[in-house]
This record gives sequence, C-alpha cells and structure tokens, in this order.
Amino acid sequence: MRIDQIFVLAGGRGTRSADPSIPKFAQNLSSGVDVADFLLQVLQDFPEAETTWVLGEHSESVLARIGERAKSDRIVFDQISGTANSLREAAREVGDGNALVMLADTVIALPLRALIERLPESDGSCFFGRFSDHAWDSDHLVIGEGNEVVNFISKSQKREASGLALALSGVTITNTQILRSLGPGDAQEQTFRKTIESGQNVRAVNSSWFLRDTGTPERLQKVSKQYRDGSLGRRASRLRSAIFIDRDGTLVPDKGECRVSVNREEIPPMVSEAIESVNNLGIPIFLVTNQPGIAKGCISESQVLDTFQDIAEALGESGAFIDAFYFCPHHPESGWEGEVAALKIPCDCRKPEAGMFHKAASDHLIDLRTSMVIGDTARDEGAAAAIGAEFNLVAWSADGKQVAKAIQNFAASVLQKD
Ligand SMILES: [Mg+2]
Ligand SMILES: [Zn+2]
Repeated sequence: MRIDQIFVLAGGRGTRSADPSIPKFAQNLSSGVDVADFLLQVLQDFPEAETTWVLGEHSESVLARIGERAKSDRIVFDQISGTANSLREAAREVGDGNALVMLADTVIALPLRALIERLPESDGSCFFGRFSDHAWDSDHLVIGEGNEVVNFISKSQKREASGLALALSGVTITNTQILRSLGPGDAQEQTFRKTIESGQNVRAVNSSWFLRDTGTPERLQKVSKQYRDGSLGRRASRLRSAIFIDRDGTLVPDKGECRVSVNREEIPPMVSEAIESVNNLGIPIFLVTNQPGIAKGCISESQVLDTFQDIAEALGESGAFIDAFYFCPHHPESGWEGEVAALKIPCDCRKPEAGMFHKAASDHLIDLRTSMVIGDTARDEGAAAAIGAEFNLVAWSADGKQVAKAIQNFAASVLQKD
C-alpha cells in the first residue's frame, strides 16, 4: 500500500503530561533525544507523501521544533475542539488518497514503511495496536474469529466479555474520504465508526514493535528508561530474536483439548515475572499452540480467543504481556462426532510443522534461527528443529521454575550477543 497523505495530530493540551508547559511532542527522553525525533524519522521514510500538521496548544513550540518542515508541510490550526473535528477539516484541504494518521505524543519506533508496503491495497482503515499489559485501560479494538475487528471500545466504556483486546497505539491508516466524514469526538473512534458505516473494511495490525504514548508522567518515565537502557532499540530493530512459548502443559497445565478458559492461578507468578522481564528487555514473546479441539468440534475458535484474553488479563495483573497469539485449528484424521470437516486436513501449521512460526516471523520480522522455543512435547521440539531454533523441553509446574528459567536463560543470551 502507498501513503499519499500524512496527518500529525500535535494539538494535544497535555494537561496530564509531565510538563504541561511544553508540547508532549517535544518532551525529552534523554539528553538530546525527544519524542519528536522518532516521528520526524518516520516522516523522512515517506518522502513522496504530503504532510499536514494539526496544531493547537503550544503551536509556536511545535513549529519551532519541526524547523524546516514548517515551511514545506501544510500547517493547520485546530479551530474547533476535538481531534476528529480538526482532522476532518484538515482532510478537506487535501487531495484523495491513502492517509497515515499519527498522534504526536506517541514514540513510534518501528519499520513503518516496510510494514505498510506489505499491506494489501484495499479500502477502509487499518489500526496499529498491541496486546499490552493494560489493554482494557486504553481505547482498544476487540478481535474476533478470523482476526476480524468486531468492535471499538473506548477507555471509558465497560470492557467486553469476549474477544481479544488490542490496545490502540496512535497510528492509523485510512483514506481521505473517511477522514472528511468524521463527526465530533475522538479521531480514532470516529475513524472506526465511519469506516463501518461506509461499508469499508476495518483491519488491525498487531505490532510487537515500539509504539508507546507518553501522555502521563509515568508513561514518559517508562519510555525514557527503555530508551536509555537499550530495550527500545532492541524492540524497534528489524530482525529480532524471539521466544515462542507453547500453551498447554507449558504456560498453563494441560487440561485436554476442550479447554474454554484459563484461571489466573494457572500461570505461576515466577513465570509472569520472567515474561515481564523479557517484555521490559524488548524481546518479543509469542504464544504458539495446536488447538485440534476446534477441528474435532468440542470448542470454537472464539472460545480459544477467550482463553488468550484470559492469559492476557492474568499476565496483565503482573504487568506482563504476550506479543501475539498463534493457533492451529486443524487436525488430520476424521472420526469425531460433531467435527468440522473443513478443518480435518493435514496442514502446514500444526506443530511439529513450522507454519505458525513462519507466519510470526513474517508478521513481526523475526530471525527464527536465533530464537527459542519452549514446550512440553516432541511436537514443540520438532517445530524448533524445523526452524533451526534453540529448544527447551519443560513441564508445567505450580512453581513455574523450569519455564521461568528457560525464559531467563534465553534473555541473558540475547543480552550477551547485543
Ligand atoms: Mg503442550
Ligand atoms: Zn494447522
């Protein structure tokens, strides 16, 4: 996909930010590095696109910070309150085309151009988000079967009972027709609603890269620490080493193929802590699981997603998260009552096949050969061998020692290589 127009929303008041006297955009992460450095770098990667800055509070400081760009880019002053209103007015001044909309208080450190180029040309909107440790405290999308976006939940709303919550990150791709139709309110929520109303597609890209907002002192401090200790750079790099963890018998006890929920207590605290530590080091961690119960007809795909959301919430309690969840719904042999015939096939994703790992590698730019697989069976081991990754055979236990140790050892080896 090609980007024609870029809109940067830099008019936020910053009443909650660390220093309300400067724009959030110009907050320092370290000496000589501020939030704007990352955004300006992204803009440089799209030289053929036209850029519009939507400014409000602190507009003088923002203009000073963007320097030469203030002469060549389009500058619009936020006259009406509300980001959606401003964006609509700004979009009315430009030509038709695909639009990239970014919130200026977000630290955007990811190969955005490479990711956008891989997106199929299509109508509608695409939201970048992540499975975070606090998805339900943020505006989030609900992801249902077939990776479809089923709803937009703003942080003030009660959270939904089913589906996976993908926290929005402040990076959206849409088109100028949709932007020109926005009503009053929040820009991302309006973009979602108007895309649905117009019958166009809503898609989500789950990003394991570095996309963090810096709108509160705590968040700014955390991002600043991650910049200084190198974990931001590790997470933002193009070819990364990752951890692939199996679900049943590894992260949670094996309770057979028809499991529909996960209890908090099933993930040992030591394992949550180990996952939190790799999260903080910027090492992606993916869950990869065979779920033949879907093909056999004893559970549905959405019940599997519910178990993932249970895992996300259990880990979130301790400040940890899984970057993405992959499952194989297939099973090769028939003979089960109520089975789903279409899924009763030999596939290339059921471990020990490597399909889920290759998908993760392609979605998240992972170097499989320098990655690590943790699992409790020969199927996990076979998949690790197929992708040339290190393997750790473990068994779930209430203390979580083996799993935590495997994660920590791998993290140590990644740090040593850097
Ligand atoms: Mg297992
Ligand atoms: Zn499969």
